[in-house]
Amino acid sequence: MRRIVIAGSTGSIGTQAVDVVQRSPELEVVGLAAASNAELLLEQTRALGVKRIALADEAAAARASEAWTDGQVLAGTEGLVELIVESGADLVLNALTGSAGLGPTVATLGEGIDLALANKESLVVGGELVMALAEATGAQVIPVDSEHSALYQLVGGEAPGTVDRLVLTASGGPFRGRSADQLEDVTVEQALAHPTWEMGGRVTVDSATLFNKGLEVIEAHHLFGTPYDQIDVVVHPQSIVHGLVHLNDGASLAHLGHPDMRVPISYALHHPERADVAVGTLDLAKVGTLDFEAPDENAFPCLRLAREAAQAGGTAPCVLNAADEVAVHAFLDGELPFTGIPRVIEDTLRALPARPLRHFSDLYEADAEARRHAAGAAV
Ligand code: MG
Repeated sequence: MRRIVIAGSTGSIGTQAVDVVQRSPELEVVGLAAASNAELLLEQTRALGVKRIALADEAAAARASEAWTDGQVLAGTEGLVELIVESGADLVLNALTGSAGLGPTVATLGEGIDLALANKESLVVGGELVMALAEATGAQVIPVDSEHSALYQLVGGEAPGTVDRLVLTASGGPFRGRSADQLEDVTVEQALAHPTWEMGGRVTVDSATLFNKGLEVIEAHHLFGTPYDQIDVVVHPQSIVHGLVHLNDGASLAHLGHPDMRVPISYALHHPERADVAVGTLDLAKVGTLDFEAPDENAFPCLRLAREAAQAGGTAPCVLNAADEVAVHAFLDGELPFTGIPRVIEDTLRALPARPLRHFSDLYEADAEARRHAAGAAV
C-alpha cells in the first residue's frame, strides 16, 4: 500500500487524481486538502474514508468542521502544512493552484516525502530552492504536467550527458495562427475554449497566450537541470506527442498518447510502477496527421517574456508569474484586453528588475511587490 495525500483535490487535476485512486487498490489516501471548496472536499472525504482534511480558507474550514464530525479539519495555510507533515505519507500530490502551492511543496520535501508535482509555481517561482531541498532530503520530485511527465519518462532511462536537447510541445491554444492584430478583440469565452485539454481557468488562458509554455520551460530547466538554450518549444495542435528528447547519437525519442491527464497523474502516483488506466489505445492510422510548427513569438510575446525572466533568474520568474496571475484575472473580469496580458507582464518585469534569491521569504516579498505593480498596470 502506498499512503498518499492529495493537496488541491477539488480542482481539475485533483478530481482526476481521486478518480485514479478509486480504481487503484494499492493507493490509500490518508489526507485531503483544498483551497475553499468544502462541499466537494467532504464528499471526497466520505468516499475515500479519510480522517484528516485541511482547507486553506478559514471560513470554509469552519463550515466543514460543522458539517463533518467523523474526523479532523485543519484550517489555513498552516493547516495544509500540518496535514502533510503529520500524515506519515509516502507521497504527496500537490495539485494546488497558484503560489499557495509553494508552502506544501516545501513541507513535503522538507519531510523527505516524495512529491508528485502539479503546482507550477513551486518550480517556476522557487525552482532553485525547491530542487536544492529535494536533493538535501533525498525526496523525489515526479512531475504531473503531461509534457514534463513525458520528458521524465524519456530522460529517466538515459545515462547522464547523453541528452542534448529537450523539446516541449504546445497545442498553440485556440488562437493558433492568428496575428497580433487579430488578437486585439478576443473574448474571455474564446480564450477559455481550449482545443485539446480540459483545464482550470487561469491555465487555459495561459495556454491561449503561450505563457503556460513559458512556465513549462522554466519547470523543465529545474526538473532536469537542463540549460535554457537546450530547451525548445514546438507547436503541435493535436497534442498527441507530449515531449521529445534529442540524444547525443542522433536518436530522438518521443512520448505519445491521447491528451488525458489521468495518464500522467497515474504515472506519478504509481511511479516507478505502472497501473491500468481506462484510456483508449492510440490508433495512429486514425489520427492520420501530426502537425508541427514554430511558435509565433510576435503574436504571443509571453513565451519570450518568460524566457527573459528565466534567464535573468533570482526574483524575476516570481515577478513574471505574479504579474501574469494579476493580468489574467483582470482579463477574466473583463477589465483588460487579451493583448494587455503580455503588456502588464512586460511593464512589471521592467519596473522590478531581478534580485538575487537567498531564502523563500525573498519570494513572498517579490510576489507581493509584483502584484501591487501589476494591479496598477492592469487598469
Ligand atoms: Mg502542460
